[in-house]
Amino acid sequence: MITKYYPYILISALLLVAITVFLNRQQILQPSILGNLHTHTICSDGDNDYETIITAALKLNFKFIAITDHQICPEVINKCLFETRIFCIPGEEVTGNRTHLLALNITKPVNPYQPMIKQVADIHALGGLAIAAHPYLKKFQYTSAELTDSGLDAMECTTNPDELHPLPCIYTSDAHRASALGFQFLSCPAPIKTFSDLKKAIFSRLCSRSFLSTPNTLRPTSFQIN
Ligand SMILES: [Zn+2]
Ligand SMILES: [Zn+2]
Repeated sequence: MITKYYPYILISALLLVAITVFLNRQQILQPSILGNLHTHTICSDGDNDYETIITAALKLNFKFIAITDHQICPEVINKCLFETRIFCIPGEEVTGNRTHLLALNITKPVNPYQPMIKQVADIHALGGLAIAAHPYLKKFQYTSAELTDSGLDAMECTTNPDELHPLPCIYTSDAHRASALGFQFLSCPAPIKTFSDLKKAIFSRLCSRSFLSTPNTLRPTSFQIN
């Protein structure tokens, strides 16, 4: 009796599978794991303390955050290392005269007054990731050689698609206050619970740009290698 419905059941099941595959490909069913990898606290030139930044990040439903002050601040780094509410990555924005370099997962300072290749090597020796910070800003522009030949792991970008850039992109808001955390951030399709998860996501170019609001004064529109 029920056998006459088999074709319909089969077609419905196939349709369901096709729709699920399509939605997954469009990343509609996949969870978005959000986070910001470039933030400052009052330890350098940020307006807010660590706790205010983390509270704001939790409100945005961020699952990971990096604290990247212009110098290593032991007190902030310690709070980050022992953070349980969110995956917190300690770091530093290695701040030279011309270039700024994001160093993620480091707890010791890196000397910015040395060639880029040496700064990157020092970060790698400390177990960190080296990411060109806002290389598109005229004031801090990297040379093409610095971007491609220094061993950098990634670069900050402002525009999609990621493939147009010489290195994997990350998207951040370089937040100097809690309210800027949502201006631009990363959206990843898989959980980022460890530094290894983060590295894998960045190297695989899995994460994309996301934002809640972007003030038009925050960013130029495109990146160009000079
Ligand atoms: Zn900077
Ligand atoms: Zn910064």
